[in-house]
Formats: sequence, structure tokens, C-alpha cells
Amino acid sequence: MAEYVEAHLAPYAVHSATSAGRCYTEPVSVSRTEFQRDRDRIIHSTGFRRLEYKTQVFVNHEGDLFRTRLTHSLEVAQIARSIARNLRLNEDLVEAISLAHDLGHTPFGHAGQDALNVCMKDYGGFEHNMQSLRIVDTLEERYGAFDGLNLMFETREGILKHCSLTNAKKLGAIGQRFIDKKQASLEAQLANLADEIAYNSHDIDDGLRSGLLRLEQLKEVDFYAHHHHLVEQTFPGLSGRRVIYETLRRMMDAFILDMIATSEARIAQSKVRNLNEVRNSTALIGLSEGMHAEMLLLKRFLRENLYLHYQVNRMTSKARRVIVELFEIFMAEPSLLPPDYQTHQIVKEGEAAKVTQARKIADYIAGMTDRYAMREHRRLFAVDEI
Ligand code: MG
Repeated sequence: MAEYVEAHLAPYAVHSATSAGRCYTEPVSVSRTEFQRDRDRIIHSTGFRRLEYKTQVFVNHEGDLFRTRLTHSLEVAQIARSIARNLRLNEDLVEAISLAHDLGHTPFGHAGQDALNVCMKDYGGFEHNMQSLRIVDTLEERYGAFDGLNLMFETREGILKHCSLTNAKKLGAIGQRFIDKKQASLEAQLANLADEIAYNSHDIDDGLRSGLLRLEQLKEVDFYAHHHHLVEQTFPGLSGRRVIYETLRRMMDAFILDMIATSEARIAQSKVRNLNEVRNSTALIGLSEGMHAEMLLLKRFLRENLYLHYQVNRMTSKARRVIVELFEIFMAEPSLLPPDYQTHQIVKEGEAAKVTQARKIADYIAGMTDRYAMREHRRLFAVDEI
């Protein structure tokens, strides 16, 4: 069965049979490929369920219909899978990477990560990609024989999409490609770009829904205006949400079709025949120059008009304070931490003990959902809260 599922894959796709495998050897499944198993392990993990209550741009309590990290990850997986199927890449692997790519995010999105990184600067820093890998490698507690989920090398490699050289040197085999300046699999490259297509599109939708973005502003972005105009031509008199969705749909489709065609051409031109040649090649999954430029303009528009909107800034500022104050109080008084996160009784005094404790606190804070972080902050700082 498992062999049959992967029989149609292109030779340059990742195959279970030639994978670098798992850290701990496990019996082969009779019903699923190795990457189907990885996807399933991720879906059943605690970290995955936490994504439901973590911020994408809008904090979870701001509205029920905004994207969360969970719905964002599902949209990334949808885009990545449809492209993978066209390119005959390993759909299960791109799905696994897409679903796991944001596991390491703190509460309150990037604001939370930046704040935690500042708190951790003397203790090795904090970076959400590294944390995603840490979750699947060590923090998930689901198996008797090992820590983490024991995922396949190529899934872990895809999850670690960026990494500083300093961190890469500490990671062994999984960090080696950053040192050697080699590529990850095509599946990893694909999940990475699908992430950008997904958020550029859904952040426009959420931005409009929230009222922070106005349609008139968006029409100043040529790419949006072009597709908006096409919709008006096709459906004269159409108004409201349907116009926006028809426009976003066309934009997303344009990116996806361009990415399939561009990547197909690059793969053919490179003549790669297997994963090893993919690693030694240049990045083969991508957009054409013209569409890449459109993507950058959209990103810039969103940064200037949505991510740095004063109302978003207010939440960002509040989020930063919550994270910093939680970190500081736990460092000063580790006895306030739940017992699982206390190390002061087992680790000797000194700098190493402090680093261990700081990392535990970072794990605790990073694992919080938005609302849990706010509740925990109230429990610790509001005198009338228990
Ligand atoms: Mg993402």
C-alpha cells in the first residue's frame, strides 16, 4: 500500500524508501507511508491543538472569524498540496511540513516571539523555527521509547526553514545544510512559499474584515486593482464580500499557477534526477520575476498598512509587556512555575543552571495560547485574581 502511494512521484521528490529516516528506528507501517505517519503524528500532537488559540495577526479574542495559526496552517497545507500534486512531489510530506511549520510560535504572533527573544538574549535567544523543531524533537510527550515525535529527517528539515549559523552548528545533521549552503527538498521549498501565498491573501481578507484596511487603499496596489477590475467586468453590479473573495481567489490562483509553471521549467532546466541533486542545485521552487515583484509589493502594503496599524501596534505593545513580565517574574521566582518547569531544585547553582531554567521558562511561555498567557499574567499580577 505505502509503496503504491509513492509510485507516481517524480524521481526528484522525497521518497520514504530513500529517506534519511528517523532518529529512533521504528517498525514500518503496513498501511501508511512514512510521511503519512509524520502528518498524522503532527495532527495528534498537543502543539498542533494549541495553534487554534494562537494569533496570526489578530489576537484570538478580537473576533471569531479571523485566521488563527491553526486555520493559517490548514490554508498553507491546502495550497502546498495542490502545487505538490501538479509537480508530482510528495504531497504527504508537504502537508506534514505545512501543518507543523508554525508550531513553535509564541502567543501573540511575531510580537511575542520578538519579546521572548530579547528576554532570552543571554541564554541562547528564542526563534520560532528552532522552537518548532524543538517541539517535534523533544517537547512532545507521547511515546514510551523516546521524547518528541521521532519524525523523518526530511520533515524536520522542512520545519527548520531558517536558522542562524550559530544555531546550525549546534544542531548536527539537520543544521548542516545552512553551513554548506545547500537547499532543502523541493517539498520544503514549496511549503515555505505556500506560507507566503497563504498569508498575503488571508491577511488582506482579515484586514478588510477588521476595518483596519479599506478597499480604496487596496485598489492602489496594482495587482489587487487588476484582479478587482476583472471581477467587476465578469460580474457587473456585484458588491460586498463576494467581490473581495472573487478578487482574492483570482490572485491566489495567479500565484499558484505561476509557481507551478515557473518551478516546472526550473526543474526541467536543472535536470535534477534525485533528492541529492536537488540539494546541490539552486532553489528550484519559485515564482517568475514578475510575480515575485507583485508578491513583494503586496507584502510591503500589508506591512505598512496592517501590521504597523496603530491599533495592531497597541496589541503588539500589550503583548510584549505580558511576555516580558511573565519571563521576568519566573526568572526571579522560579517557585511560581508549575513543577514540571522548575529546575532550581535539580540543577546546581551557577550560570548553567540559569540557562537551563531560562530555556524551561521560554518553553513554558512559548507553549501558551494567547488567552492562557493573558490569564496567567492576571493570576500573577492582579491581586484579586487566583
Ligand atoms: Mg506561517
